[in-house]
Amino acid sequence: MFYRDPEQIYRVSELDAFPWLIHGFGTRLADIPAQFAQLATLKQIHSSSCVAAEGRSGILGEGDALLENSPGGVVAVKTADCIPVLLVDERLRAVAAIHAGWRGTAARIVERAVEAMRERFGTRAEDLHAAIGPGIGKCCYEVGPEVAAQFGEQGRAHIDLTAANWRQLEEIGVTPSRIYASNLCTMCRAEEFHSFRRDHEAAGRLHSFVGIR
Ligand SMILES: [Zn+2]
Repeated sequence: MFYRDPEQIYRVSELDAFPWLIHGFGTRLADIPAQFAQLATLKQIHSSSCVAAEGRSGILGEGDALLENSPGGVVAVKTADCIPVLLVDERLRAVAAIHAGWRGTAARIVERAVEAMRERFGTRAEDLHAAIGPGIGKCCYEVGPEVAAQFGEQGRAHIDLTAANWRQLEEIGVTPSRIYASNLCTMCRAEEFHSFRRDHEAAGRLHSFVGIR
């Protein structure tokens, strides 16, 4: 279950059970990068490319999912309407942070990230927890016919990116009871979240992070 902690960061109570894990979804009320000396990010390009952080910090090239299993490593994605997804391998203590907008979702980036964790760390889908953070909701995400067609809709339509990512996680074998969704709309909740669709070029970015102590 998602809740907002006293530092104004959203967390998932089920993930709080792991003492080795660091995780959170930032709001516009919390400056995340200042909390971590070691933070790895990517130049995000709306792709399905996955990059292994391997204990490094800073901007580690281009891509939209960062994997990590090094103690001390924290990986993050930046969003403003796109969907942030955090993966946690409970058995191997490995994690991933994913940026899933419509392009990444259509390219099935969460599945690609699970596969990349399997190849690199030996992750099994049944050991994963997945947290789908705040992003633009179906309420506000009306798209044109070209984008709608990517999600099996005709004409202009409202797209539910959280549901699409949830389905992909289930399809690759993540246990439904271990998938947590905030269902918080970044466009509706202006006091808490940045939204590109609402604020255009003036929009800031939310940091969603996951790491290993
Ligand atoms: Zn909304």
